[in-house]
Amino acid sequence: GGGTSTILATKQLTKNFGGLTAVDGVDFSVAEGEIRCLIGPNGAGKSTLLELITGQLAPSDGAIYFDGEDLTGLDTHKRIDTGISVKFQSPHVYENLTVEENLRVPLQRTDRDVDRVLAETLDRTALSEKAETGASELSHGEKQRLEIGMAVTLDPKLMLLDEPVAGMSVDETDDVADLIRSLHDDGMTFVVVEHDMEFVRRISERVTVLNQGEIFRQGPIEEIEADEDVRRIYLGE
Ligand code: ADP
Ligand code: MG
Repeated sequence: GGGTSTILATKQLTKNFGGLTAVDGVDFSVAEGEIRCLIGPNGAGKSTLLELITGQLAPSDGAIYFDGEDLTGLDTHKRIDTGISVKFQSPHVYENLTVEENLRVPLQRTDRDVDRVLAETLDRTALSEKAETGASELSHGEKQRLEIGMAVTLDPKLMLLDEPVAGMSVDETDDVADLIRSLHDDGMTFVVVEHDMEFVRRISERVTVLNQGEIFRQGPIEEIEADEDVRRIYLGE
């Protein structure tokens, strides 16, 4: 990739839930190879925006382009095939399966070399020693890493993560930051929804602030953190 080319672009993307406009005419674009953080107060529309990008939700208006292709009419599976993966806000691991069995689930639909990908993913997520452990036995941090691992098995070009470190200890948060940075070093592009500003500072250069369904500010992390209007709406100051 060229490094500065746009991999994801939404155009006037809009989602109405009855009378409520959760995402309101959003033009959101991400360059290939970026780690973009998406922040904003509760109810700003962050999760809805991610779900529109993955096809979990159909837009009321607007379009989504990925790698130059118009995705707007494609279902979620087709979007995954084009190289988009997601870890949702609510946990999606299979509690009754082992770590390794969980990692096998997304691989069922692919022709990837399962043994190689499993070994790589277990190593990457630092879960090799837990391969045979039931998912229900994992700590919160391990579960989140497993879920990121499940998305990673598909070797996506773009990874969407919704609050990947919510409820984590400092050490668990550091592990996830290291995992994201290592995948980024291998060329993966990220959009990460997160409240933890310390974490945002560690992984991201550019930040987009969403408020009431609209892009409120966009820029380098230092600028966003220093912005009084952002502090007012986001930090409640
Ligand atoms: P965030 O992730 O930024 O906290 P969400 O995208 O979850 O915000 O929600 C944005 C707004 O849309 C909120 O007001 C929320 O209550 C509303 N909303 C989200 N999903 C639905 C839904 N399925 N039905 C109705 N309203 C929804
Ligand atoms: Mg959310």
